[in-house]
Parts: sequence; C-alpha cells; structure tokens
Amino acid sequence: MSDSPFQELVRKLFETTKRVDAALAELKGKAADIEAKYEPRTEFNRWRNSQSGKLWKQQKYQAQNGRCVICGESIQLKGSHIDHKRPLSQYPHLALDTRNLRITCPECNTSKGNRCDEE
Ligand SMILES: [Zn+2]
Repeated sequence: MSDSPFQELVRKLFETTKRVDAALAELKGKAADIEAKYEPRTEFNRWRNSQSGKLWKQQKYQAQNGRCVICGESIQLKGSHIDHKRPLSQYPHLALDTRNLRITCPECNTSKGNRCDEE
C-alpha cells in the first residue's frame, strides 16, 4: 500500500525538520567555536605568547625595575604574571589595552582575583 498524499506530506515534513535540527546543531557548534576564538581570555593569551606580547612584558618588567607592582618584591621575569588592573571578567574590552596591564608576582595576581585595584 502506498502512502496517501497526507502521509507523504507528514513524512517529508518530518525529514525536513530533522535536517533543520542537524543544521541548527552545526551552526551552534560553529558559533561556540567563534566565541571561544574571540573570548577575551583566549585573545589575551594569544597576545601574551606572541612576539609583541613578549617584548612588551620584557620592557614593562624593566620599567618596573624587576619588581611586583603590588607588593614590591623583586621577581623573576620568567614566572611573573601579567595582571589586568581592571579585571578581564568585568572589562573584556581592556583585554589587550597595555595601559590596563602590569607585571606582578604570581601570588599577588592570584590573590587579587576579580577585585579592581585603583592606582
Ligand atoms: Zn607581589
């Protein structure tokens, strides 16, 4: 027995819905990829590992006389942290703004969390 026109229509509708769902899932996956790529933290990490980021850190380290800008302790360039004065979570647009960046010891950067230090 062949499908009635109505059954045929329902079958096609069902198949189309499945295709739309699959396309939508694919789109959502791509959107998540794009978001991850441009997420401020990711963008910042990419800059930090780039030549210009490394050069900036060296120069900033020298400008701070090799000291943590928060506690004033003498620190090694290797292992020191780049701190966002205004935290990334609240000021994502300042992720790569060097006026918002400073070098600290790991302890100060880690304990600061999301607090906003004023200079
Ligand atoms: Zn410190």
